[in-house]
Amino acid sequence: NAPQPAASHNQTEKEQLTVMGGGLVGSLLSLYLARHGHRVQVFERRPDPRRAGADGGRSINLALSDRGWRALEGIGIAEAVREVAIPMYGRVMHDAQGNLSYQPYGQPGQGIYSVSRGGLNRRLLDLAEAEPNIQLNFGQQCLEVDLRGQQLHLRDAATGQEKHLGYQRLFGTDGAFSAVRGSMQRTDRFDYAQSYLEYGYKELTIAPAADGTWQLEKHALHIWPRGRYMMIALPNLDGTFTCTLFFPFEGEESFAALRTPEQVQAFFERVFPDAVPLMPELTDDFFGNPTASLVTVKCFPWAHQDDVVLLGDAAHAIVPFYGQGMNAGFEDCTVLDELLRQHPGNWHAVFQEFQRVRKPNADAIADLAVYNFVEMRDKVADPKFLLQKKIESK
Ligand code: FAD
Repeated sequence: NAPQPAASHNQTEKEQLTVMGGGLVGSLLSLYLARHGHRVQVFERRPDPRRAGADGGRSINLALSDRGWRALEGIGIAEAVREVAIPMYGRVMHDAQGNLSYQPYGQPGQGIYSVSRGGLNRRLLDLAEAEPNIQLNFGQQCLEVDLRGQQLHLRDAATGQEKHLGYQRLFGTDGAFSAVRGSMQRTDRFDYAQSYLEYGYKELTIAPAADGTWQLEKHALHIWPRGRYMMIALPNLDGTFTCTLFFPFEGEESFAALRTPEQVQAFFERVFPDAVPLMPELTDDFFGNPTASLVTVKCFPWAHQDDVVLLGDAAHAIVPFYGQGMNAGFEDCTVLDELLRQHPGNWHAVFQEFQRVRKPNADAIADLAVYNFVEMRDKVADPKFLLQKKIESK
């Protein structure tokens, strides 16, 4: 008798797959895996964001660009998302005197798109829930993974009960502080590096006008470049803008130095004078919203044998200055999908090729994102550096 190929190779055997993390990348990935005919279990630490009102009413947005669109097109939801996305055709710089200048992102009609993070995640979860092959499990935190025994150690957020559950193939999409990666870090020859910027960020809000419209140009990403730090703002559908202040943790001008509402108000009036009248909740937002840190994570390999692989921030967390973290994670899904078509059932080839192709790209965007912070907070304000078109001056 001629030897038969191993069952997991060269044939499209449908499997039970496990996705850890139902965020942006995990929910999209589950859809791709289910469309290949597999049964997918998704475990997510948080409660169901569609039921818990987890956004707390605040709009947090992200810039979606071509790589992200391509991944959404692959599962047929690009048009639905486009209907609730706001195109940004260029950036508007606000100088310290309130003068504005404009740089287009490309040819007329080309742009990046502001989308609601929560809205996009909820939409992807709705689609995942509608797939008979996908089962969503919320409130399930992965504590660690027994890689040798192929067991998940999970804790139920509501009851605190812990359990062990076997898996056949595990996809780690549990974000920058991935528990799946944490377990892989304890295996031999696993490279891992994380680095923090000395800057943090805080989200603030520009209010809509009395008639509910936008108080700044809606089809642009706004930047207040101030040399060592900056604020940016992206539009939301409800007439607000979500502002993000990227600011040193320590020093003369820093989060540590702004301790009272009076100090915050005076600082903003001095450095962001045109924004302050549009931010009626400024000091409440400043002290109510967290100050978060900015981390880059690099690691390798992303695959453990043929049964675990990392995608999205779990594999490559980057700082947000290129607006490419989610886009890169979505592109991971596109590439994995292509590889599943090329090597149906051959998980070894899929995982090996996936990390070989994606790792150099992930490293490149990680470095570019750090460099782009200097450009955005400093160089875009330098008239010698880029040709700027004055659109308004006060
Ligand atoms: P996450 O979105 O972090 O999702 C991980 C999921 O796993 C979460 O739902 C989490 O609850 C769950 N989880 C975590 N740990 C566990 C566990 N132990 N067990 C079970 N579940 C777990 N990207 C862009 O493309 N464009 C932008 O404009 C942009 N702007 C950004 C602005 C800021 C300020 C920041 C910080 C990031 C920005 N990014 C942007 C990056 C983007 O947010 C991330 O790249 C993206 O969210 C990664 O998606 P993910 O699904 O891999 O991870």
